[in-house]
Amino acid sequence: MGFVKFLGTAGARFVVGKQLRYSAGTWIELSERKLLLDPGPGTLLRCRKSRPPLDPEKLDGIILTHKHLDHSTDVNVMLEVMAELGHKGKKGILFAPRDCLEGEDPVVLRYVRQYPERIEVLKEGPVYTVDEIRVFAVQHVHGDAETYGVVLDSPEGRVGFVVDTRFTPELPRHYAGCDLLVLNVVRLKPTPEIDHLSLPEAAEIIREVKPRLAVLTHFGMTMLRARPRELAQRLSEELDIEVIAADDGLTIEADRWRR
Ligand SMILES: [Zn+2]
Repeated sequence: MGFVKFLGTAGARFVVGKQLRYSAGTWIELSERKLLLDPGPGTLLRCRKSRPPLDPEKLDGIILTHKHLDHSTDVNVMLEVMAELGHKGKKGILFAPRDCLEGEDPVVLRYVRQYPERIEVLKEGPVYTVDEIRVFAVQHVHGDAETYGVVLDSPEGRVGFVVDTRFTPELPRHYAGCDLLVLNVVRLKPTPEIDHLSLPEAAEIIREVKPRLAVLTHFGMTMLRARPRELAQRLSEELDIEVIAADDGLTIEADRWRR
């Protein structure tokens, strides 16, 4: 059965820098394919320490939503492990925005690009595939970094990741029909000068999308101090939709989101 495992739930500099929560990425298994979203600092370590173990050499793909450090630092080592340790040759797919690959400061090292079998430049519009999984990118607004949320459609349901972004009223439409909706909620209160979702904005998206299950993650300090678990509980009651706050290592199996 498919599942999503949160190897890390840290968002923003302070929580990542102090490692108040782990900053590893999210492991996704759908229709027997294994994908890794946003391999931040510590992703390889958290894979190896995971119980039951997660073998990164078995990955089919890595999705980088944007170049910021807390999402991308382990991408190079993970690309190498995905290909080299498993196969001794090219293996796996890398999905990444153009500015992770080109320009002044690309985060994917050039010599590592020999490892994946294919590199897909993310943009909104095309439908990418990983066998039975269809992958859609959703354009976000997040400072100078070209950033995309992702929707993964598979026989095991539709799973959406609303990653770092400023709130825009168009967002919910792009995540329509998601059975599981994961949202990066860095801030407790809206902060217009920062391109990150706050709790009330995340609530607005959940209210409109109406997923079977919503998961809050990627917490900054203001969220952690306010106790994410209790905030999620209150949101569930307010919206009459199940909302939970991710902890490091939380695994959610597909039967919790399938309708
Ligand atoms: Zn970011």
